[in-house]
Parts: sequence; C-alpha cells; structure tokens
Amino acid sequence: MLRTKDEIAKMRRAGRVVAEIHEKTREAIRPGVSTAELDQVAREVLDRRGAKSNFLGYHGFPATICTSPNDMIVHGIPGSYRLKEGDIISVDCGAIIEGYHGDAAYTAGVGEVSPEAERLMKVTEESLWAAIAQMRAGNRLSDIGHAVQTVAEAAGYSVVREYVGHAIGTAMHEEPQVPNYGPPGKGPKLKVGHVFAVEPMVNLGGPGTRVLEDGWSVVTADGQLSAHFEHSIAILDDGPEVLTVP
Ligand code: MG
Ligand code: MG
Repeated sequence: MLRTKDEIAKMRRAGRVVAEIHEKTREAIRPGVSTAELDQVAREVLDRRGAKSNFLGYHGFPATICTSPNDMIVHGIPGSYRLKEGDIISVDCGAIIEGYHGDAAYTAGVGEVSPEAERLMKVTEESLWAAIAQMRAGNRLSDIGHAVQTVAEAAGYSVVREYVGHAIGTAMHEEPQVPNYGPPGKGPKLKVGHVFAVEPMVNLGGPGTRVLEDGWSVVTADGQLSAHFEHSIAILDDGPEVLTVP
C-alpha cells in the first residue's frame, strides 16, 4: 500500500519514538543488567511520549521489546537473563503514534566483545544500509534483499531465510514481505509512498534456525552468533528516508 505525505509524517513521529527507545536502551546496556530492565526502559519512553506498544500483546507477546542475546536471532522475551561482558544483544523495538507504526532493531556489544562479534555487527549494519540505498522508485522489491545478501555473504556470513522484513503502516506487518536474499530485479516496482521495515538477520555460521520451547525465541541451529539491524524506511521522490532515526 502507498502512504500519503500525511501518513508518512505520522510514521516519522512513531519512528522518532523508536529511535529514542534505541538511544535509552543502548545507554542501559552493561554487564549485570537484565533484559526485563531494558524492557522497562522502553516502556518508560513509550509512556512519556504518549505512544502505544505494537509488540505488547502481538499474538500474545508479553513485552514491549524483543531482546535476543548471542545465538538468539530474534523474538527473545525480556526476563531474568542478565547481560554478561562479551555478550552481544539484539534489541527490537516498536511504537504506534496516532495509529501509525515504527519498527527498528539494533545489535550492541556488552562491554568488550570479540573481534569476530564486532565484525558481525558491523557487516550486518552495513548490509542494512546497502539495502536502504536500493530503495528508490523504479527499482524492484528484490533489489533490497539482494543487497543484504551480497554484503553478508561477501563477508563469509549467511542470511536467515525464515524471517523477513515487511511493509509497515497502520499495522506493524503488512504485505509485501521483504526477504533478505534473492536475485536482483524481480518483484513489484518500488514506488514513492512505499514504507518498508528492512531487517537483515545475519549469522556467523549457517543460515538455519530453531524456535525454543517458549514458542518465541529463535536461535541459530548451529549455536553461533547472530546479529539483527532494522529500520523503517519511506520511499520519497528524492529517495529513501529512514524514519526510525532521532
Ligand atoms: Mg522489528
Ligand atoms: Mg520488523
């Protein structure tokens, strides 16, 4: 669905709230902090900004952010887990303002992390920005995922297949899906007014995934590290605008 300038303005406001959740949770990340405490930080931002959570209650999800440490790819439930020096932690956040959604994620190190973990995070974020650069009217949907896959695989990593990005607007997850892989030049043409949440999930080892017994937490099948970066991005006349930035 194509969004009007007024709708995109509301999504920009939701995106600003998500960016503030990123900023405040990043500041709170340190050894000894529990993932439930990070969730509380996010709740406080939502309350203060008069925003609603799009995660809380989503298919029964019990928290306002997802916190996924180390080999966990996405959808981790905040709780008693305490961050340790050397962990990496993926934090996925969302907000609703006047019925319009924002959705964005980052992965951060806890204290000092291994060079291997540092590089994985850097390349995953670079793959997101390579994808964003493809978000111009006239390109094709698959150009986005192709850019992610090209950057991730050139670095020797693999891209998760089972979980993908999505259009976003008056719901968090709208059609079409936006995979992080595929050939270039396929699928619908990108148009001014498209708004997508692009979210590479990049694994140090193989692409395989497994869901834990809680029914939510997705981990790498081989137990190796995974990173996740996401922005909500609108396609405008002059190119992409990242909405989930301060
Ligand atoms: Mg997200
Ligand atoms: Mg998303």
